[in-house]
Amino acid sequence: MTRERPGLDTVACRDCDLLQRVPCLHDGERACCGRCGALLVQQPADPFTRPLALTVAAATALVIANCTPLLLLSAAGRESSTTLAGGAYRMWEQGSEVTALVVGFCAVAAPIGYVGLLLAVLLMVRRGSAPHWVATPLRVADRLRPWSMNDVLLLGLLVALTKIAQLATVIAGPALYAVAALVLLLPAIVSCFDARAVWRRIDWATARPN
Ligand SMILES: [Zn+2]
Repeated sequence: MTRERPGLDTVACRDCDLLQRVPCLHDGERACCGRCGALLVQQPADPFTRPLALTVAAATALVIANCTPLLLLSAAGRESSTTLAGGAYRMWEQGSEVTALVVGFCAVAAPIGYVGLLLAVLLMVRRGSAPHWVATPLRVADRLRPWSMNDVLLLGLLVALTKIAQLATVIAGPALYAVAALVLLLPAIVSCFDARAVWRRIDWATARPN
């Protein structure tokens, strides 16, 4: 198995401020300061188990968020419900095309793309080495990450809920709780997912011309 060894990283020791170059560490390895012995960098023994568990949980929450009603409204004997995508579609029908596109992309397309691609990448790298094409979904997922803005959506929904509650009976659907779970899960994935660990597992040998 051939692995790319990326360049050395320059790290400052937190105890004695000595700048030093740290080589690429393998899983479970640690680097200590050459002068005072303080821990500089530690590579987790298994960097993919926690991100994978969180990504599977986020994928489950995404399915619930997109397949079940977001809100159930009841007023003057009439009842209606809407899903996330259905809400964006109604905005489009009512002439708010730009808002509908923003909501559709940031609340539906970007989170599905980000979580789906990350799930595929994590499942591939768990087997040991990953084929070189894994780099493409990893790059696309990284581009989509800043656009997965369920927290903004949840805040907007809560503001809308307090206004609508004066006019109609509003019941929060299962999707609203799933969106709330996503608001916690997506930052948790970002904080524990180490893209550099994935780059180290990608087998570049097949991409090199002989
Ligand atoms: Zn030191």
